[in-house]
Amino acid sequence: MYSDYTQYRSLLRTDFQYRCAYCLRHEFFLGGEAGCCIDHHRPIRGAYAHPELIANYSNLYWCCRECNEYKGDTWPSVEKIERGFRFIDPCRPKDDHDLHLRILPDGTLEPLTSAGRYTSDTLRLWRKQLAHYRAEMARCQREVQEIQALLSQKRLPPEERRLLETLLLELLKWLEPPVFHRPRGFQGFKGEKPEE
Ligand SMILES: [Zn+2]
Repeated sequence: MYSDYTQYRSLLRTDFQYRCAYCLRHEFFLGGEAGCCIDHHRPIRGAYAHPELIANYSNLYWCCRECNEYKGDTWPSVEKIERGFRFIDPCRPKDDHDLHLRILPDGTLEPLTSAGRYTSDTLRLWRKQLAHYRAEMARCQREVQEIQALLSQKRLPPEERRLLETLLLELLKWLEPPVFHRPRGFQGFKGEKPEE
């Protein structure tokens, strides 16, 4: 247990699989770890503040800086929550994004529930860059499936098989991008203040 919530940083990154809890982008596409930060799911300031949850691990979410900025101290009112308007919460059992939002082939989002609508509107998940990102990821996924289907054919010439296997590895790198770690024990450079 840490009293300083920033100490949970590396644990959170791993728990959230290096992805933003809201737009689901991998850190790799956000400039690495620096493109993300720690979000207090239930705000610790503002009208619906829960300051006692400042260092409560279950209230800490790994989040991209853009979603964090749009989210701010926003939280739905009791009346809104009663009508189902709330943030999609990937830490709640059975609260996956795809139950609340459908991704269309061009990457735009179609809210399926009030929670999907609230999350998409508040965090602007309809942002153009996000739509582009989702469309590209969907295209990668389709190509992976097509290549896997071709590779399952037994009578594939060896040269063609090798080419397809190389292509498959390249595509999988985009779907499961690498994670960059600082060397263990790195304390920052001499004379520099350590990061948060
Ligand atoms: Zn995000």
